[in-house]
Amino acid sequence: MSNEFNESRRGLLKKAAGLTAVAAGLVAAGAGNAQAAGMAPASVQYQTKPKDGHQCDGCALYVPGATAKAVGKCKAVSGPIAPTGWCTLWAPKG
Ligand code: SF4
Repeated sequence: MSNEFNESRRGLLKKAAGLTAVAAGLVAAGAGNAQAAGMAPASVQYQTKPKDGHQCDGCALYVPGATAKAVGKCKAVSGPIAPTGWCTLWAPKG
């Protein structure tokens, strides 16, 4: 291989590595946005009442509000989440 070919190859490899890093960054940013937005409540049959004795304040994904009865948030579902709510993602606290 000539030096000229090696230089050209090195340049291409550097560009490819740079593009890969940019793509990985975009994917990570996209994943972050999706997580921040959360799933639509209807897509997981969210309701404001308990089901079969299970409710959001007993779920591992629930983020409580200011008080026990206050509306909180969910790590997976978007929008305000009632502590007495429920959805198909319900999972017991560990
Ligand atoms: S995953 Fe479902 S059950 Fe659990 S806190 Fe979120 S909305 Fe409530």
